[in-house]
Amino acid sequence: MKSIRKILFASLCTLATLAVSTAALAQAYPTKPITLVVPFSAGGPTDVVARTLGAAMTRSLGQTVVVENKTGAGGTIAAAYTARATPDGYTFLIHHNGMATAPALYRKLSYKPLADFEYVSQVIDVPMTLVGRKDLPAKDFKELMAYAKAKGEKVNLAHAGLGAVSHLCGVLLRQAMDVSMTTIPYQGTGPAMNALLAGQVDLLCDQTTSTTPHIKAGMVKLFGVTTPTRLKTLPDTPTLAEQGLPGFQVVVWHGIYAPKGTPKEAIDKFGAALRTALKDPTVAKRLDELGAVVPPDDKLTPTGLQTWLEKETLRYAPVIKAAGQFAD
Ligand code: ASP
Repeated sequence: MKSIRKILFASLCTLATLAVSTAALAQAYPTKPITLVVPFSAGGPTDVVARTLGAAMTRSLGQTVVVENKTGAGGTIAAAYTARATPDGYTFLIHHNGMATAPALYRKLSYKPLADFEYVSQVIDVPMTLVGRKDLPAKDFKELMAYAKAKGEKVNLAHAGLGAVSHLCGVLLRQAMDVSMTTIPYQGTGPAMNALLAGQVDLLCDQTTSTTPHIKAGMVKLFGVTTPTRLKTLPDTPTLAEQGLPGFQVVVWHGIYAPKGTPKEAIDKFGAALRTALKDPTVAKRLDELGAVVPPDDKLTPTGLQTWLEKETLRYAPVIKAAGQFAD
């Protein structure tokens, strides 16, 4: 009897300690800078979204959101790093469609996208544009098609690695255009864009968050947008679908994740700061000018991200398998 009482007392003490530490975390969190891992190079579109939101979130959290670029293997290095990080609320990952394509692309993946993370929220949807180097001898998509057919593998398209959306867009374009252009990997579309601006590569399919300023400055040639309808930010630019690639569509969505076991209080607070940042008038205006669209409120939740990731993982698996695309 005495020992049962002792056990009961010990369990109550443990529960009390847990309750106190959880409450302390809720009150005090965050007490130090928070790392937001970005799977691609600085200056690319994922990085631009992370830094824009990170700066606004820093204001509401009262602690700096530090962007850390962990590049390589189409985003899987950053995801594996985050999955193994201490689940204390101080490491988060922002990733895009790559979270859903990786299980089909990589047969040996060191983490499970659907099981090894806590979900925070979806973030933003961004359309893509097909752009070319300024001196490419094709003035529109029709001429580009003829040029790519004539030049075959000599035409190249830069991308951010196997598993990146720029790669997916390139592979889908190659199939839809029925051309054999070469694809060249970079650590992100930041450096890929630099190569395009320097005239070292011919083409790049990238998010409007990165391409819009270069398009507006006349530094690259714009051949089309990847959405089903034209963009309000680039109203005179036809979609690729209306230029002979019916049904062609690639839209980049983003999610924020934390290592499995991260306290709910941290997830809730980081998620709330994200939602506040997305509604900040300066941030909203900036993202809108770059063609990015904030998803509806029900997607800006842990469940909104989880159900979307599950759906997208199922959608991509047969497409990738049918295309025989493996990254390892
Ligand atoms: N735009 C990228 C992609 O193609 C990655 C990046 O943000 O650099 O997936």
